[in-house]
This record gives sequence, structure tokens and C-alpha cells, in this order.
Amino acid sequence: MSDDVVDLSATAPPAQLTTEYCIIGSGPAGATAARLLAERGRDVVLLEEGGDFTGRALTQRDGAMYDQLYMDRGGRTTEDMSIAVLQGRALGGGAVINASDVVPIPPAVLEHWSRRFGIPGLSEAELAPHARAALEDLRANPIREDQLNLANRLLREGAQKLGLRGEVMDHNRQGCIGLGTCLIGCPMNAKQSPRLVAIPAALAAGARVFVRARVERVTGAQREDKTVVCRALDAKGYHAGARFELRAKTVIVAASAVGSAHLLLQSGIGNPHVGRNLMLQPQLPITAIFEREVDAFRGIPQAYAVTEHETADAERGLWGFRIEAIMGTPGIVSTLLPWIGAEGKARMSRYRHIAASLLLVPDEPSGEIRRGPGGRPIVRYTQRDNHRARLREAIKVATRIYLAAGAREVVVPCHPPLLLRSEADLSSADALDFAPATVPLLSAHQQGTVRFSTSRSQGGADPDGQVWGTKRVYVFDSSGYPSSASSHTMAPIITTARALTARLS
Ligand SMILES: Cc1cc2nc3c(=O)[nH]c(=O)nc-3n(C[C@H](O)[C@H](O)[C@H](O)COP(=O)(O)OP(=O)(O)OC[C@H]3O[C@@H](n4cnc5c(N)ncnc54)[C@H](O)[C@@H]3O)c2cc1C
Ligand code: SF4
Repeated sequence: MSDDVVDLSATAPPAQLTTEYCIIGSGPAGATAARLLAERGRDVVLLEEGGDFTGRALTQRDGAMYDQLYMDRGGRTTEDMSIAVLQGRALGGGAVINASDVVPIPPAVLEHWSRRFGIPGLSEAELAPHARAALEDLRANPIREDQLNLANRLLREGAQKLGLRGEVMDHNRQGCIGLGTCLIGCPMNAKQSPRLVAIPAALAAGARVFVRARVERVTGAQREDKTVVCRALDAKGYHAGARFELRAKTVIVAASAVGSAHLLLQSGIGNPHVGRNLMLQPQLPITAIFEREVDAFRGIPQAYAVTEHETADAERGLWGFRIEAIMGTPGIVSTLLPWIGAEGKARMSRYRHIAASLLLVPDEPSGEIRRGPGGRPIVRYTQRDNHRARLREAIKVATRIYLAAGAREVVVPCHPPLLLRSEADLSSADALDFAPATVPLLSAHQQGTVRFSTSRSQGGADPDGQVWGTKRVYVFDSSGYPSSASSHTMAPIITTARALTARLS
């Protein structure tokens, strides 16, 4: 599948590389921009530090796949190690390992962006054609009733018994056979990720795509010609090898809300807002234990969402919380259960009886990206009281739902573990303080860090994504989002990347 993709772990980097548009990062943002620009006849180079994985290369082996498909081999965390910061590192970015849920930006969020931040070009009406095109890119379609596994149906059953609103989400799978290993890549190539849609289209339109090409910095950001300083990586992406440079008139940084800000900081580009306003949207996984076998690991893991408590907030954008069924492979589930040794083994032997949910609680800007030693980012984040309060509330609601659906107990994976077996137990959630390293919070929807703004005193980039103080250095990913766009960021990022690319001359 990768005939036209140049793998720099196997091929020497070109001696002279020049282009009109250099795009850094090949996830939903970068791949979309590369495709649209190439289809406009522009000269495009796309640089990606991850490898190229499709079909059988996605082996379904936990260890190997987290190692190869995730940033920092799945080990990226906040500085205090309180939140796992999950991000893809592969051609196609996080869309190769995400849960395939397609959730557009809620209109109330766009209204908030317009009213509170006055950002032109991102209103519901202006984004509508790009949002439609994003859904087409993703081949978005509803998850069918026969594709709902028992774990998702139990969450729905419990919610319905309690009269709570919910929905089966849309997804970007075609030809899914329900193997359930989506979070370590789909060997069936069922996920219509940018790897299978935007990147082939970009290549067909003449874009040059390099993998195992890590950008270390960009120089000359205020000049006509920029220099992009890169290193080729080895086949597994562990070690940096040959250094090479690329000349470009326009640089589009699309390395994620962590990676883009970090690259700008490494390059000394931008104003003091770069790196600030980080939103991690920390999520809490909980498990429900049933007497019956649930086999949540079979079929589509994340299909049903309880949306009753998700709200639009005039001051903050997306607020409240959302509860979504989820399941992981044994390796990841064992790390998320709060037991080790004999108890951990006994609990894992009941793997077939587990249903799990993610409590998705949007946040306001609460952190920052800093330069760390060895060219690595430091992700600094302080959880706010309002986030803790909504997490506690979400735990109670999710527990009621699972108990209504017949669960024996709900496990909150904190230390010490919290076991909730009845309504009377719920008040014990009030004591949870989510102190660092006591509960496995996850982040999959990083946003902020190079905030779009109408004035350089308010953010890191202008409304077109051009980093303030530069000549044609842009950020096209969720770095620019002034508030949380959605519970899920893939469709939003493709939408805004399309809008920003359309405006780019
Ligand atoms: C486990 C998980 C599940 C998720 N589930 C969903 C879901 O179901 N639905 C949904 O909508 N969203 C989901 N998301 C979120 C979604 O996948 C991301 O928001 C999206 O992929 C971000 O797109 P992006 O283009 O901004 O960045 P990314 O997809 O992160 O792509 C950035 C790319 O840049 C590369 N890169 C970084 N730095 C450099 C550098 N210096 N040089 C070269 N390349 C570099 C990285 O290797 C990476 O491939 C999930 C995310 C995760 C991690
Ligand atoms: S559940 Fe479907 S999309 Fe996920 S890995 Fe299996 S076949 Fe692929």
C-alpha cells in the first residue's frame, strides 16, 4: 500500500529538497491540507516521523503496536504523570489508532467561538460545506444496530431504563468485521482514516510523502524561504540518523496540539501564547462487572454515548460530560485495573465479564507545553475543581446506569480501588480527589496551545492559522481551538483543516 511513500529509514534522504508547501505531521489535519493543496496543483511535501502501517502490518499485538503506533510508545504523560497523553505516531496520525467515532463540532461551540473570541471564518454557516466534506472524507456512516456489541447495548439499556438521552454514534468504518482492536490499528483497513483516503489522494495528485522523517526545527520563519531541519529515523523510529534540510515558502505545522506547539517552541517561533491554553480533556475509564459474559472486546468498542449531561455553556463552550462505552485489548485493560499480583490476575481472568466506559469531561485551558530535555515536550496540566466535580458526578451517573443494566459492581480504578455496588455506595465517590498517580486519567483529545485570535495579544496564531510574527508559518490542527471543540476531535480537525486550507493562497 505504501508504494509511493518514501520511507527514510530505508532510503537516503534527498540531498536537495525544495517545495512550495511543507506540511509537518500526517494526521487528520496535515493529510487533509496535503491532499487539498496537491489537488490544487501545488507542490507539496508531507513529513511524518511515524512509520507506514496498513493491513497485516497492524498485527493486533499490544506490545508491538503501542510501541510503533503511539507517541512515546504509548508512554507519553503529563509532567506529574497524572494523565496519559495518548497520541498517534504513524502515517495518518491518531486516526490510525483512534476509536473511529465521528462527532462533528456542535453548533453551540462554533457560536461560542464567534461570540466569545470573535474569530471570523469559523461560524456554523461558514464551516458547513467543510463539515459536510469532512464527513465525506471519513465515509461517515451510522453504526448499525447489528454492529452494537453487548457492552454497548448494556450501556444503552441502563440509560434507557433511567430515561437518559443517548445516541449510537456515526463512525468511519467500512467493511468492519468486528475484531475489536481498533485502538491498535485495523488490519482489515476498515477505518477510513486519512491513511486510506487523504494520503492516497494527495499522492495521486503529486504530493511527496516521507515517513520516518522527524522535523527538529524550522528556521527563517519571517523570511520568504524557510528551512525545515529534519532527521531520518531508523525502521522502528527509535533513533535519529541522517540530518537533512528542506526549503519551503510555506510551512504548515500539523503535528498535533502537543507536537505543533512544541515544534514552534523548539524553533523559537511565535509569541508567548505559543504552548499555553492546553486542553487535555482528561477522561476516566471505569469498568462494570457483570455475572454474564459480556465479551466487550468483540466488535466495535465505542459505539453508544450517553449524551444527557453534555451541555453548551455560554462562558466555556462545550461543558458537562458524556459517557461512552469502550473496551481495550487485554494489555491495556490490565494496566487500567487497579490491582496487581494475584488479585490483578483474578480480576483479569474475569475479562469476559467486564464492560467499560469512558467518562469524557471537557475542560477549559488548564495547561501548557514546554520544551523539555532531549528535544522532548513537557506536558504540564493542572486539573481544575470543576473538572473533578463533573468527574465525580459522571461516576455516579455511570454507576446508576450499569446497576440498572444488571451489573454486579462498578470499579473506579483509583488507589485504593473504589467498588460501587448500590445507590448507597455512591457518596463514596465524593471523596475522590484524583490526585496525581492515584487514578489513570487519559487524554485523547488535546486542543489549544497555539490559539487562534484576532489580536496577537490574545493568542498564538491569527484566524487563518498563521502564527503571529511569521511569514507563512501556519498551524492547521486543534492547537488553534480556543475552547474544547467536541468530545471527539477527528471530524472537527478535518473540518477546520479544510476551511483553513481553502483560505490559504
Ligand atoms: C486512542 C485514541 C482514540 C481516539 N478516538 C477518537 C475517536 O473515536 N473519534 C475522534 O474523533 N477522535 C478520536 N481521537 C482523537 C483524534 O484521533 C485526534 O484528535 C486526531 O488524530 C488529531 O489529529 P491531528 O492531525 O491534529 O494530529 P495527529 O493525528 O496526532 O497527527 C500528528 C502527526 O504528526 C506527527 N508528528 C509529530 N511531531 C512531528 C515532527 N516533529 N516531525 C514529523 N512528524 C511529526 C505524529 O507522528 C503524528 O502522526 C482519538 C485519539 C486517540 C489517541
Ligand atoms: S472492530 Fe472493525 S474497525 Fe476495529 S479493528 Fe476490527 S475490523 Fe477494524
